[in-house]
Amino acid sequence: MTTEIEEKSPLVIIHQKQINTHHHHALHCRRCGNKISRISRDRLVKLFLFWLPLKKYVCYRCHRKSYRWG
Ligand SMILES: [Zn+2]
Repeated sequence: MTTEIEEKSPLVIIHQKQINTHHHHALHCRRCGNKISRISRDRLVKLFLFWLPLKKYVCYRCHRKSYRWG
């Protein structure tokens, strides 16, 4: 490993922080237990429920979509 690789740029530090935050908030599918990924909300939900802390998630294993608070 060279010193150039070991040296961390601000961009790398920010990127790692985002990964850690994402990992901390990782949610799992209630059906199969697989990690679910956040996707954008439906247009109608965005339009009428934009003030709610609702987040839409999808499980790529069983293709189950769900809304979660927070
Ligand atoms: Zn699932």
